[in-house]
Amino acid sequence: MTSPKSPPTIKRLEQTVVNRIAAGEIIHRPANALKELIENSLDAGSTQIQILVKDGGLKLLQIQDNGHGIRREDMGIVCERFTTSKLRKFDDLSQIATHGFRGEALASISHVAHVTITTKTAESKCAFRATYSDGKLVPPRPGQSADPKPCAGNDGTQITAEDLFYNVPTRRKALKSPSEEYNRILDIVSRYAVHNAGVAFTCRKQGTTAADIQTISSASTVDTIRQIYGSSVANELLPVEREFPELEFKMSAYVSNANYSTKRMTLLLFINNRAVESSSIKKMIEGVYAALLPKGAHPFVYLSLEINPRNVDVNVHPTKREVHFLNEEHVVNAVSDAFQNRLENANTSRTFLTQTLLPGVLDIPEPSSAPKPAKVAVYNTVRTDGRLNTLDTFLDPSVPSKRLQSTSSTDGTNNGQEQDDAVSQVDELNSRGMTPKVKRPRIEVRLTSVLNLRKEVKRSEHTGITALFSNHTFVGCVDDALALIQHERSLYLVNYAVASEELFYQVVLNEFCNFGRLNLSEPVDIRASVLLAIEAEERKGNLPDQLRSADEIAKAISDTMVSRAEMLEEYFCMTVTEDGHLKSLPMLLRGYIPTMDKLPMFLLRLGTEVDWETERGCFETLARELAVFFCAEPPLKVGETEEDETLYKEQHERYLWQVQHLIFPSFKTHFVASGRLGKSGDESGTTKFITQLANLADLYKIFERC
Ligand code: ADP
Ligand code: MG
Repeated sequence: MTSPKSPPTIKRLEQTVVNRIAAGEIIHRPANALKELIENSLDAGSTQIQILVKDGGLKLLQIQDNGHGIRREDMGIVCERFTTSKLRKFDDLSQIATHGFRGEALASISHVAHVTITTKTAESKCAFRATYSDGKLVPPRPGQSADPKPCAGNDGTQITAEDLFYNVPTRRKALKSPSEEYNRILDIVSRYAVHNAGVAFTCRKQGTTAADIQTISSASTVDTIRQIYGSSVANELLPVEREFPELEFKMSAYVSNANYSTKRMTLLLFINNRAVESSSIKKMIEGVYAALLPKGAHPFVYLSLEINPRNVDVNVHPTKREVHFLNEEHVVNAVSDAFQNRLENANTSRTFLTQTLLPGVLDIPEPSSAPKPAKVAVYNTVRTDGRLNTLDTFLDPSVPSKRLQSTSSTDGTNNGQEQDDAVSQVDELNSRGMTPKVKRPRIEVRLTSVLNLRKEVKRSEHTGITALFSNHTFVGCVDDALALIQHERSLYLVNYAVASEELFYQVVLNEFCNFGRLNLSEPVDIRASVLLAIEAEERKGNLPDQLRSADEIAKAISDTMVSRAEMLEEYFCMTVTEDGHLKSLPMLLRGYIPTMDKLPMFLLRLGTEVDWETERGCFETLARELAVFFCAEPPLKVGETEEDETLYKEQHERYLWQVQHLIFPSFKTHFVASGRLGKSGDESGTTKFITQLANLADLYKIFERC
């Protein structure tokens, strides 16, 4: 194989090969054509693929990549049947590692559409453009030369197919509406984007600026699933990774757990990196989940199989969709067992929280008779791996005992389960009626203001620190604002009070329109609450001489919120009643409840800090204020009685629990270390909110000397 960035030369297949391959039509609809084009771009080693569509692809289908390009001298034959750079002899067919193998796709497309290719290799000084019809170069306009024309262009290839099926009226009529075709296109792009985390995909309709699909190359598979299919599914995924040498195949999958279901199964199936369909695999998955989900409920499954190419019959159907393979039954059974195993284990290792949360503020009834936790002697927990236990297991045995485990497993805090813990804790909340567990379809945000704000976060990203956060191991909280984390062989001190504010800001932007809801047990009188905040500020001497009385300010803020109630409801899940009461807040992280002492101040700042006049200004400042409100800040200590003391202790414990189990896991998955947090420019990646304390290598040196 040649390296993906240097273009292999394109040769005609031997006639014998040609005869042995069943020729067939590949292109049935725009989405088929696009699939072939995407696979070509991936084969060319691209890391960016941009797709532009008009009228469901019937008018225009354009794909731009940054792959190795096509040589000038090959441009004459790329669209001929059976020209491929990927296969020479028939034997190669069984070992093909790339998507394409028959050199049919471009030829077929050029038979049913006007094709233009603009391409540039790294070695070439300029790009070349050529147009094709029926497999041959044709002049772009009558009277002009058909030869590829030099032009300006970036490295990579842009292929445009216009007026698809212009010469096949029956085919054209058979197609559904452009919007149906566009949905199929989005479906294909989504699948390839998930399967190719590491390649940035965008897909948009011509004439719109906002992309319908936009993924980034640094995103993980789960991030990409979140981006495209929404958090409600991304939060409930279990990885399954297995190898079966006897059957000569590997599997890698993400399957939804029992908390998630939809009306129709979503199955993203890839065999040897091709999106395919397999009725036997589909049936198997239905079977696995039948025992797990209620009737009519279906899972989300992304499954990638790598099967020894010798055992796969890729040539079975020209569209290469329904695939068959050797030992199909055994392979399917093996996958089934792996899924079953994973799903069962996920169910038996849940951890539940049995503590009352902020009594009186949120609508959570007292926990009912909960079984007592199994006691685990501390000396039995041996720390063999930094990821297995966290500091608090050793320091404060009362903390884990607040939670109870439904298994006899001794390492309930192991890292792999942290997500499960958080999820099941929310389920516990759900089952107590705090949040109605309705699954809403995710709303795709198209507001340019929000998209731009998201872009700004990304633009100022310090990728090294983002990576550090996403791969960290939580060690323990030092105090109410600082915690220790480990990354590779270094120990870092994180100011999570500061970092969590940025985290919540990003969550507001990313989950915009799609928040869950935190219902307040008693609607809060906005005016009265703002007055409280003003008084508190006055006592601290923080307020300058007022032009207006406290009363007037409070009323003005309440009025503003009432007049913006519709917007607050639609975008931020904040319900404001006509008489100036706040009934709900957005849920930024599942199960996370901000310190409610901060609510009055939050409401006051909505009046003083938020720009209510412009769209972008409003979203940005409101997102900032939500972040200030939600960021980690310990509860206030009030009163001296023993009861006050117990309440405070409970709230404080809850606070640290949330930091460890909700905030830090989110740093792994939802956090971009943006430049806003400030950098010191130090090589070690140390900034205001994270400081490197020690690294193992240096520590070893010290110990050697002792
Ligand atoms: P196949 O992919 O089966 O080889 P195609 O008709 O899809 O056949 O493509 C023909 C040839 O054109 C490919 O083998 C490849 O060399 C070249 N080609 C097509 N698309 C691209 C692209 N996006 N970047 C670079 N080369 C490409
Ligand atoms: Mg191809």
